[in-house]
Amino acid sequence: MKLDEFPEDIRKYLVPEPSGNMFYRCLGCRGEFDIERLLYTCPSCGGILMLYHQLTGEKKNIEGTLWRRIFDYRRMLNLNPLKGIFRYYEFIAPIIPLESIIYLGEAHTPIVMANQNLEKLVGLPFYFKNEGLNPSLSFKDRGMACALSFLNYQAKKKGMKNLLTICASTGDTSASGALYSAYLSNLLKSAAVLPKGKVTLQQLSQPLGSGATVLEMPGVFDDCMKVVEELSEGYEVSLLNSKNSWRIVGQESFAFEIAQDFDYQVADKVVVVPIGNAGNITAIMSGFLKFLKANIIAELPKIIGVQSDHADPVYRYYLEDDPSRRKFKPVTVKPSVAQAAMIGNPVSMPRVIDLIREYDRAAGQKRIFVVSVTEQEIMDAMIVANKNGHIACTHGGECMAGFVKAVKAGLVSKGEIGVLDATAHVLKFSSFQQMYLADRFPSEFGVRPRKEFKNTPVTIGLKGLRKQPQAGRPLQGKDLDRFTKAGATEIARALNLKKR
Ligand SMILES: *Cc1c(COP(=O)(O)O)cnc(C)c1O
Ligand SMILES: [Zn+2]
Repeated sequence: MKLDEFPEDIRKYLVPEPSGNMFYRCLGCRGEFDIERLLYTCPSCGGILMLYHQLTGEKKNIEGTLWRRIFDYRRMLNLNPLKGIFRYYEFIAPIIPLESIIYLGEAHTPIVMANQNLEKLVGLPFYFKNEGLNPSLSFKDRGMACALSFLNYQAKKKGMKNLLTICASTGDTSASGALYSAYLSNLLKSAAVLPKGKVTLQQLSQPLGSGATVLEMPGVFDDCMKVVEELSEGYEVSLLNSKNSWRIVGQESFAFEIAQDFDYQVADKVVVVPIGNAGNITAIMSGFLKFLKANIIAELPKIIGVQSDHADPVYRYYLEDDPSRRKFKPVTVKPSVAQAAMIGNPVSMPRVIDLIREYDRAAGQKRIFVVSVTEQEIMDAMIVANKNGHIACTHGGECMAGFVKAVKAGLVSKGEIGVLDATAHVLKFSSFQQMYLADRFPSEFGVRPRKEFKNTPVTIGLKGLRKQPQAGRPLQGKDLDRFTKAGATEIARALNLKKR
């Protein structure tokens, strides 16, 4: 819709000017720092940072009802910078001018309702939010859109050139980081540090195709992360891991969209999310809290974090009920089909501890739970979900398995509705699907495919046929007729078709 066709009272809010201010706050010493310095950790105590924003002037006094109208009308606005995560401009990074914003089609992902089969299986109605439909096929694009927009803005403002972005990755961060960096290829180059053999072929092909330098190292993600942290402290590089708080604020858009998708009624919603490095759950909690404080939502949804029992440090931490006796211990990970979450020492753990406390306090009750699931449960759930019309990756399967567990444990009950984060597209993890459907899972995963789900291609050989079609030499005349008849007969037999 054209700007002059919007209701007059809303028009002036639709296309925002930069305003307000943003700053880092350390979760360790509570020190505050200017965003003009590109910081990844606290310069005084080394603690982990979060970004905060303050709206100023007229924006400060906008009521929840008006914010809701602004976001709803912005949905109809044909302006690229405000189509993705920056529909919620004032709650993401209101200091970035619109001309610095990079939009590659991320965000506004569909929410798809589970059919009756799945609802019956799980015991409650639920939706998948398809984050696999982002441009690099995972939710990581939300954070990258923000981090690279900010970098773009800073580089323009300060005349910086020849920047290098770098990240450690379980696959999706590097795919996303490389994609957004490639869009700014005049300004910067990108590099990705990956654990050799621990990302899928599809994920490996993504940064290579985007022109990034890919460095494969021995070890698992946690080892790569340590190396990249060392690099970002000692060298001129821009870190794209979720330690970079600009990624977190971008990912908050996932929570904002859920609120808007359900007309801001989230009291009965249960958001289910896999936990790896814990950036995603951090962003989701922080996002809902921001909307609560601005009266855009009246109540906080329940949140269920899910971990595989092959990589479950956060789950173990919360097994202890008494907060004063909790002690965080990294775990040694085992091979997991939820490979993007195969992390034993999550970087965002201090953010999680801080935010769960704040979230539960703001809700006036316990609203966040962490459950653990087996590799078997993850795979079974993913396969069943996709056999019922979804495109969930292993982590989406992990969410569904976690939701089932939460229902069984009584953490969720009748009247509540699940919103499951299908964090990536199934095709990124098709190797796991393939091993399951062909019954070829390596034993270290502990997955036994269910026989009834076995599915491999059926060869239609047509051995009896004298002439077969070959590349570049199509059959003709009688030969083609014989081929068509024989092919149809054999396929009809394979499919058990009745003759008309
Ligand atoms: C990164 C990722 C996760 C884990 O998210 P964290 O923010 O690291 O907790 C889960 N699923 C997919 C597909 C991912 O790419
Ligand atoms: Zn500090």
